[in-house]
Amino acid sequence: MIGGGLAGLASAVALAEAGVEVQLFEKRPHLGGRATSYTLPDGTEVDNCQHVTLGCCTNLADFYRRAGAGGKIRFYDRLYFVDGAGRRSTIEASKLPPPLHMAPSFLFFGALTFADKRAIAKALLAIAWSGGRPAEIDSLSMLDWLKRMKQTQGAIERFWRVVLVSALDEELGRTDARYGIEVFWKAFLGSRGGYRVGIPSVPLGDLYEGCREAIERRGRPVRLRSGVREIRIRHGRFAGVLLEDSSEVSADACVVAVPHNTLLGLLPKEMGEPGGMLEGLQHIRSSPITGVHFWFDREVMKEPFLTLLDHTTQWVFNKTLLYGEAATGGQYLQLVISASYDLVPRSRQEIIDLCRRELADILPASREANLRKATVIKEVMATFSPEPGVDRYRPTQKIGVENLFLAGDWTQTGWPSTMEGAVRSGYLAAEAALTGLGRPQTFLQPDLPFEGFSKSWAERKNSRG
Ligand SMILES: Cc1cc2nc3c(=O)[nH]c(=O)nc-3n(C[C@H](O)[C@H](O)[C@H](O)COP(=O)(O)OP(=O)(O)OC[C@H]3O[C@@H](n4cnc5c(N)ncnc54)[C@H](O)[C@@H]3O)c2cc1C
Repeated sequence: MIGGGLAGLASAVALAEAGVEVQLFEKRPHLGGRATSYTLPDGTEVDNCQHVTLGCCTNLADFYRRAGAGGKIRFYDRLYFVDGAGRRSTIEASKLPPPLHMAPSFLFFGALTFADKRAIAKALLAIAWSGGRPAEIDSLSMLDWLKRMKQTQGAIERFWRVVLVSALDEELGRTDARYGIEVFWKAFLGSRGGYRVGIPSVPLGDLYEGCREAIERRGRPVRLRSGVREIRIRHGRFAGVLLEDSSEVSADACVVAVPHNTLLGLLPKEMGEPGGMLEGLQHIRSSPITGVHFWFDREVMKEPFLTLLDHTTQWVFNKTLLYGEAATGGQYLQLVISASYDLVPRSRQEIIDLCRRELADILPASREANLRKATVIKEVMATFSPEPGVDRYRPTQKIGVENLFLAGDWTQTGWPSTMEGAVRSGYLAAEAALTGLGRPQTFLQPDLPFEGFSKSWAERKNSRG
């Protein structure tokens, strides 16, 4: 296994549980890849960025269970919003059956006008009636689809954009409509619990403690700080790897779970050239996420998290509360800005000043509070950009090289660049590897079942497989 991010870990744990002797090589000193935590020079442990899961992420939930970390994720049924004037609104499921379960909250949602809501209801119904697959959306951007559905400017800015930019890390005009529509189908329409937000109650790195043990119980020691320099292929078969320390390793099969922009550097050059089997990878672009960490000298926020409307900052997480600590010694907040193209060239201090001004709008207590410490973490290549048509460039986990398999959120999973997508890819790669070894097994978990009241909707969903 090359790479100890979620894709590599999910694949390695599944294979180890199936009785395969796995050895994992990770370039960095810690596991978790893009969803990890590390220690700052002053000893504080921080996540590279707050990560959240949703109730509809069934494979990620399965992976956390296998890793013994299921109990470290806390799910929240109520979502908290705040607008530019500091007005709060919440959204949660009612007792109505899906897809109407969110409708009462939505009707009373203060940040939208009647015209916005009427337009949104029409588009949501179109998604629901089509079982998440409205007609003629191939290669269409989400923004174009919203315009086709005659959405108001308020609906686009204060509803669709708010949900989708954070979920997909891209602007609506650069997002494939299929991805945007699926977010609403899977999270808000198809099942009662799909929208529930799951947040780790521990630093991200603590979630993977059980993985190492699960792999090493049946395999070999996990090797950190062990980058792979080259993957060797002879006569169309995997033939071993060369590590950065110049040692060589051989194995019956190999799963490569590194980022898409790293993979081509490890493989023979012709595989990424025009006509090569991984030529498409050159066309997959990345988008940035910026995380801002603030440590205040007092309590400034009561809610566990807030989604912001009308601001550059999109989410604020109350880390002190999420970790179950008392705010008596001050409060630690983490802010997230997805698709943060505008922030990438800006200085750390400019970003801190901007975020402090925005916090002053929504958290009045922060105006008087002293900021003890602040950290800005820019992840310039946070996710792959879900651009219209990007799926044609995503390879499957089994390529045309015998005993070599691919994993990573960027491979074909049907999901955007998320932890759920990464785990799905890891399970699919493990399934392909076991099939290759003549011991087929299934790891992929089904989606949440459709819970709607209408039989015809359920039939439509089932017919999608
Ligand atoms: C800032 C940020 C916020 C995010 N927020 C969310 C969120 O809230 N919810 C969500 O679902 N998703 C979120 N994501 C996306 C999520 O983190 C990724 O989709 C997922 O972690 C990708 O996992 P992966 O295993 O495919 O890749 P990676 O995590 O990139 O793992 C690849 C691993 O390979 C290793 N590697 C690279 N080269 C080599 C080599 N030569 N030899 C050995 N090892 C190597 C790397 O060090 C890394 O550990 C976020 C991502 C970022 C960056």
